[in-house]
Amino acid sequence: MKNLKGKKVFLYGRVSTTDQKDNGYRLPQQKKFLHEFAERNEMEIVEYFEEDHTATTFDRPEFNRMSKLIIKNKIDYVFFYKWDRFTREPNGIMKVEEWLEKGVVPNSITEWVNYDDASYYLYVGLFILQAKVENKKRGDATREGIIGANLEGRHVNRPPIGYISGKDPSKPKKPLMKPCSIKAPLIKEIFEEYATGLYSQESLRKAYTKKGIDRTKSQFSNMLSNIRYIGKMPVEAHKKEPAQIVEGLHEAIVDEVTFLKVQQVKLGKSNIRLNTKKSSKHEEFLPLRGGVLKCVRCGSNLTGSPSKSRNGDYIYYYHCNPKKSCKERFPVLIAHNELNSLLTELKPHKEVVILFKEILADDYRISQANRIKMIKSMEMEKSNIENKLDDLTEKYVTDNLDKNSYNRLKEKYLEEINLITIEISEHSDFQKDIDRFVDFGIQLLVNINTFYKKAQTEVKRKIIGSIFSEKLVFEKNKYRTAKFNSAVALIFNYNKGLQNIEHKKRPTISNGSYSVAGTGLEPVTFGL
Ligand SMILES: [Zn+2]
Repeated sequence: MKNLKGKKVFLYGRVSTTDQKDNGYRLPQQKKFLHEFAERNEMEIVEYFEEDHTATTFDRPEFNRMSKLIIKNKIDYVFFYKWDRFTREPNGIMKVEEWLEKGVVPNSITEWVNYDDASYYLYVGLFILQAKVENKKRGDATREGIIGANLEGRHVNRPPIGYISGKDPSKPKKPLMKPCSIKAPLIKEIFEEYATGLYSQESLRKAYTKKGIDRTKSQFSNMLSNIRYIGKMPVEAHKKEPAQIVEGLHEAIVDEVTFLKVQQVKLGKSNIRLNTKKSSKHEEFLPLRGGVLKCVRCGSNLTGSPSKSRNGDYIYYYHCNPKKSCKERFPVLIAHNELNSLLTELKPHKEVVILFKEILADDYRISQANRIKMIKSMEMEKSNIENKLDDLTEKYVTDNLDKNSYNRLKEKYLEEINLITIEISEHSDFQKDIDRFVDFGIQLLVNINTFYKKAQTEVKRKIIGSIFSEKLVFEKNKYRTAKFNSAVALIFNYNKGLQNIEHKKRPTISNGSYSVAGTGLEPVTFGL
């Protein structure tokens, strides 16, 4: 090493946020080593510059300030700890040349370059390159670490909404997200409601923003497809491994079947028809318009509209068609209150509830054998497709299949598997949860008014449509004696004929069971 005694030197320490944890790079360490080196060589330390600015180029505040002072202070040397503190860019060699021309020698105290050697630029280049490679390796290591954790079923980044970060109780050093006690139930609700096919994403998004699930349109849509909610973990493609989904270690918030139904609804492939008609912002305040109410004066369908009051609030009215010069008009509030008390009175007869249960259980027993057969054949079909999918992945990994064909076929198989899974669950759910199912139907019958109150406009109309056999006529603040569907009349304690039925023998009821179960169950599908 050259005689450095008495030479003027600038010391330059730099750290970037990503290096903070690396001991050898910590600023106090760099400063200490730089000073020791210069002192050992009896140099004149003119100034120590310290940079904590992350930048790959030379455009850093302290570096710029130092560059300006080099000539002014007649500096001989600039020392840094390692070459990657000076630059990580291969063209950093240009800066070296530029400085050498000015008579300033940059050098690393740990990766010393001998400028007397004609190929010094090679060494500089190598040191820089090495730093770059190391940096890339560090990046890969991080990525590999994440993929490794993902393969284990561990989500390592920021948890999706509904989850909070946490530690794995069995491996306390490892992260394991857990459901947020406040938001997870809301997420579950969103999935369940969307799975019914009765609500648009936008109506749910707005309703739940108020409850604290604050998502943009695209975030909301992505959320509905985030497979982490059913306890799975997606792993991105890595090296030769295609992207895959593994069992997550975290708790699911949403059950698999609901999730799959949501995907079907999202794809517009649901059996349930979504009401795609764009409803105005007033629609929710006018559930009885659109063919529910009949005009008491002229018999036309009533419609409804808002009118602005003096203080700017809307007041809603149901009214007749003005073109027909019919003046029928009343505020929605009385009509709604009156309907509510009508629905509150609808309580199923105790005997009917018992019969209803028996009928369903009976129906269940009869078709149980059939169902088991069906489920078995569907399960076989499912495992066939799953095998095909495995073969496909095998082919892809062993290079016998191009990526596009792989993705296309994979999509197709996954789609088929999803459909069968839903079908199987629809059959086996009933088998497994007959009691829950029946109880839910009965809950619904018992609390039809509460259910109605909570339902959205489209559902409200369906409920009214399935309860009453004809349009409602509102007269003098009361509904004219409304006619119920015969099945509803049977179920609810609202029909004098009921007493006769009670005392009839089972077979009679059983014969009528389909119509009773049919209409009685209809509202159930709203909630499932
Ligand atoms: Zn009228």
